[in-house]
Amino acid sequence: MLDDYQEKQPIVYKIMKNAVTKDKIFHAYLLDIKNCSFGNEMALAFVKYLLCPNKKSNSNNCVECTRCKKIDDSNYTDLKIIDPDGIWIKKEQMDELQEEFSKKPIEGKYKIYIIHQVEKLNKSAANSLLKFLEEPEQGIIAILTTNNLFQVLETIRSRCQILSFTKNKIETLDNTMSILQNYIQTNLYDLSKPEEQEKYSKLILTVIEFIKNIEKKGIETLLYTTKLWHNKIKEKEELLYAFDIMTFFYNDILNQKCNRPIKIFIDENELIKQLAHNNTIESLSRKITIIMQLKDKIKININNGLLIDKLILELIGGE
Ligand SMILES: [Zn+2]
Repeated sequence: MLDDYQEKQPIVYKIMKNAVTKDKIFHAYLLDIKNCSFGNEMALAFVKYLLCPNKKSNSNNCVECTRCKKIDDSNYTDLKIIDPDGIWIKKEQMDELQEEFSKKPIEGKYKIYIIHQVEKLNKSAANSLLKFLEEPEQGIIAILTTNNLFQVLETIRSRCQILSFTKNKIETLDNTMSILQNYIQTNLYDLSKPEEQEKYSKLILTVIEFIKNIEKKGIETLLYTTKLWHNKIKEKEELLYAFDIMTFFYNDILNQKCNRPIKIFIDENELIKQLAHNNTIESLSRKITIIMQLKDKIKININNGLLIDKLILELIGGE
């Protein structure tokens, strides 16, 4: 039920709750769920809250409600859920929806449709949806969800109330971790084990913090290597991994600089944009080369303290 999401997504929760309690329900909502694992479930919880005759938002109080039960069993006539058919949402799916929604609601006041991943509407399907959104009919509510708000057509966005999920640090890292895993060719950490996962996320955080320091404070970073690096990264394997993460991070800064999409650290895009702005393409390529060359020295057991000092000096050198 909706209350399950009160702590996870407080802002979106509040807007959904207020819409019903203050009876200010829009005809179309666009949920920018950002790949959040419970995004679709929260959308459905909102629908239940809109439709539940008891207006209960927590499960304890809504046990004997046939409507909530029908929704749970995918048996509620006035609710239609659309998912992409293959990679696209197709026009036929939209036509079918419009056909069904030309009839009045049977069970209650509203007819609601949910379209998941609305960024995947193909062109003709998007046009059909637009016409539908342009002439909102009394009692019809659209709930659209997307993982990428900016891939949704502006004309669709502008006709919806947009509810954007916020991400906490851990969710952000989960995402980054799984993408990185596809790039780094090592099985040092088994991400199915929670303790390994924690170790790995800490490593990512350490590297990002370290780069931020070098880029913003320059040579001063030498004073804080114990706190920023040596207290956190001790074993050789961790060191190798940290250098890989560093390479990929600079690579993403370079991607941003060259107007290519950020590949891995999508959730750090603000920082990456700043750093891309502060660097030239040449300086970024130079930094990536330095990191890769120094990584080779780890293998020949160079003293850790010296290695990191050398890294900092070389990264800020020549600027
Ligand atoms: Zn109910």
